[in-house]
Amino acid sequence: MIRIIAFVVAVIVVAAAATWISEPPGRVEIAWGDYMVETSPGVLAAALAVAAAIVLVIAAVVRFVWIGPRRVALARRRRRERLGYHALTQGLVAAAAGDPKRARRFARRADALLEEPPLTLLLSAQAAQLEGDDHAARGYFEAMLDQPATAFLGLRGLLVQAERTGDTARALELAEQAFALRPETPWVLTALLEMQTRAGRWPDALNTVKQALRHGAVSDEVGRRRQAGLLFERARALREQGEVREALRVADEARAADAAFLPAALLGAGLAKEAGRDSAAQRAVIDAWRHCPHPALGRLFLALHADSSAAERLKRVETLVANNSDHAESLMLLANQALDAKQWGMARQHLERAAVECPSAGVYRLLARLEEAETGDGDAVRWRLQQASEAPPDPAWLCTRCASASPAWSIVCDRCGAFDAIEWRTPSRVEASALPPDTAASADDDEQPVPAAAGTAAE
Ligand SMILES: [Zn+2]
Repeated sequence: MIRIIAFVVAVIVVAAAATWISEPPGRVEIAWGDYMVETSPGVLAAALAVAAAIVLVIAAVVRFVWIGPRRVALARRRRRERLGYHALTQGLVAAAAGDPKRARRFARRADALLEEPPLTLLLSAQAAQLEGDDHAARGYFEAMLDQPATAFLGLRGLLVQAERTGDTARALELAEQAFALRPETPWVLTALLEMQTRAGRWPDALNTVKQALRHGAVSDEVGRRRQAGLLFERARALREQGEVREALRVADEARAADAAFLPAALLGAGLAKEAGRDSAAQRAVIDAWRHCPHPALGRLFLALHADSSAAERLKRVETLVANNSDHAESLMLLANQALDAKQWGMARQHLERAAVECPSAGVYRLLARLEEAETGDGDAVRWRLQQASEAPPDPAWLCTRCASASPAWSIVCDRCGAFDAIEWRTPSRVEASALPPDTAASADDDEQPVPAAAGTAAE
């Protein structure tokens, strides 16, 4: 505006100067109909300059009236946004610092100032959660479902609430919706699998794992193990219902999904034995020993030959371990059977090798048994038992989340509900001290009841 006024003043000054300079000489006449204008060229120039200046001023006024309010509105909006984002930042900081009142106050302020419902909803929900106002938080989470940007977050909030209140049906429904939105997100996959498994919905859970594999949400190895684990649980449920034949078929599917998955091999072999198919059971044990030697497999194998003499069983065991003869479990099983067959030299040879390569309490307990059986030397027995107490604990089925021990593998930890968290491993000393006695030694006995005479007592 100031520039325009300066321009007009300059034009008038220049016109006046031109008039002064150009007077006289010469005249200008303009005839338009009955009108006649007669003037000097200087005055005409000045008049034209003034007319141009008036046009410019009118144009500037029109422009100001037309665009001015928009500029003002834009400036006002920018100021609101600045204040809104500041409130939002303050609110998020307050929420992170665990100050619900302050978070809520800033949430309200940000909501009033900003046209960003996703962000302010998120902050409002957080603030309501911090205050323990579940009802308000649920309202915000539900409002988040309407916005594509926040729908997933809203589902998570509602899911956590449903789980906390024990509404498992609603939680499962929400987990399924979240999985449909983002199947590759690890927490969604885990939550959905845990819920489907707890509900005993094995086909749904299997389908979830297959989809997760397709979306690359889990590695091939984990996907295969989970498929085998779910099929194992289904087979176990069928076995409990007395449907041994169908259980056996599903257990075979589990073994096919992951040959190295011990629980399926163990269950399959046990079911084959229950169905009177001893040779199938034996083949399953021999095949599993190649991938995953385990004391429970050894006990099952010995139970299959319970009617044979100790010497014959020793020969069978030698055949069993032939494909994995350096493994600690192979050495232990051989030594155990050699003890039963009173083959002291052979038992000592295997045990001393096991003690060097993979010492464990179990190896020293067997050595103590050997000292007692072979020489009856009390000092030697006590020394071996002392070594057993100092050696690394025996492995057990342990939950990776809560570290509790289970008598057998299951896809969900009985104690903490973690999915696919139980594994066969050596506990730390701290973990071992918290385990109930004989957890490791008797692991899987409930899975595969083995006659007491088989492979334990010296003959
Ligand atoms: Zn657990």
